[in-house]
Amino acid sequence: MKLETKLRIAYLCIALIPLALVFGMTRDSPVYYDKYYSQAMAAAVAVAILLGLASPWFTGGWLLCNQLNMVRAFCARVKNGNYRHVLPVPNEQSDWDDENEIIALMRDMNWMARQIASREQELQQSIAELNQSRQQISRQKSVLEQANNELIETQISLKQRTTELEQACQNMQVMAMTDPLTKIANRRWFFHELEREFFALTQNREPLSLLILDIDHFKRVNDQYGHQNGDRVLVDLAAIVRRVVRTIDLVARIGGEEFAVLLPGTDGNGAQRTARKIQQAIAGAAFALTDRQQIKITVSIGMCSLARPPFPTLDSFYNFADQALYQSKDSGRDAICVYDPQAAAVCRLDRSKERGGNGLCHRNPFC
Ligand code: GH3
Ligand code: MG
Ligand code: MG
Repeated sequence: MKLETKLRIAYLCIALIPLALVFGMTRDSPVYYDKYYSQAMAAAVAVAILLGLASPWFTGGWLLCNQLNMVRAFCARVKNGNYRHVLPVPNEQSDWDDENEIIALMRDMNWMARQIASREQELQQSIAELNQSRQQISRQKSVLEQANNELIETQISLKQRTTELEQACQNMQVMAMTDPLTKIANRRWFFHELEREFFALTQNREPLSLLILDIDHFKRVNDQYGHQNGDRVLVDLAAIVRRVVRTIDLVARIGGEEFAVLLPGTDGNGAQRTARKIQQAIAGAAFALTDRQQIKITVSIGMCSLARPPFPTLDSFYNFADQALYQSKDSGRDAICVYDPQAAAVCRLDRSKERGGNGLCHRNPFC
């Protein structure tokens, strides 16, 4: 029964009380036998109705309380997260209850409880998925961290490898520029440096001198003492020449038993002094052989110095020193010959300078 109907009945009963009182007291009333009896009956009925209706517990209970208590208990259950025990309502699937608003409200509350339960289930599912994703992310993070560490390690080893390669490259460059036997500059390095110094000469007008040395009768050394001893002589000779010259001078082996000395910033006089020092150092040295024998050797030296323009070409400069060497050989070996670019002539230095002379031997046919 709808609440509205219940209230209508209650109001009707209340309205009937004065009517019953008046009706009972009327003489024309069919229930009128005795005035006092009728009035007493009407009053008793009215009191009974009044008692029934006036009692708040009975009325409230009758009208609302049972269902409200059920709703309250339901709300308490929902508060505690229990959505399964729904309110007992007839026709749960109905959209609208035409009997009782409280029932309709209870049905709506059931619907809401079911919605909350379903939302909570979805929420739980989402939380579980989120946790799963979080775990996956943390797994991926650790994989990424591991990959990053490996990358750093690879980078470090790559850097190390690059340094090693650079070192190897430098070593190869040095090897490519070094004579393996004597460990001094080889022909390639010599011509590279000659080009550089020649360019500096033409730019800065710094004097430049070149000596070319060739061991005299070296073939005999090989023939007499063997190739191995010949090699030892070459090594020792390279060391002697290096000891005599400055650190900025370049000593190179440009052929089998042929050496070149590049003297940057050195004019003709300085170059002659160096050539003499080399000649004397070699003359004073005893070259040790494998069988503890010692031999003496001599060298022929050709030299050329440039200080002022006009400068010849680089090739000419080298050829001048080579021509001077040829003249040294031709003049009897163990000699120093100088090519004078101004005079386009070769002069042989003699040892008179060592004895106080001017150093030039005018008896020499090449002067
Ligand atoms: P010259 O006074 O005219 O220069 O006579 P030479 O015997 O020194 O000249 P030649 O060109 O006839 O001989 C050079 C010799 O140098 C020939 C070769 O056996 C020797 N030789 C060249 N390279 C090497 C080397 O690396 N080691 C040794 N042991 N001998 C070499
Ligand atoms: Mg020789
Ligand atoms: Mg030679």
